[in-house]
Amino acid sequence: MDSINQGEVSSTSYRCAFCGETNHTFVDPSQGKQQKYIEDCQICCRPNELRVSYDEWNEQYAIRASQSQ
Ligand SMILES: [Zn+2]
Repeated sequence: MDSINQGEVSSTSYRCAFCGETNHTFVDPSQGKQQKYIEDCQICCRPNELRVSYDEWNEQYAIRASQSQ
């Protein structure tokens, strides 16, 4: 079953790949279960490349951050 509610925004967080601080962000479910985009850290303002994947088991998004050049 597809448990994603289209149109809703899922709140989640990731750890900055540069400074290690936790950033809270929102994932737009309409962009799919696998997403990749750049977001600037809210603390150090450096660009994190975020890989978003939807965890079907936990019914939430997981974000992996890496340093973007
Ligand atoms: Zn940072």
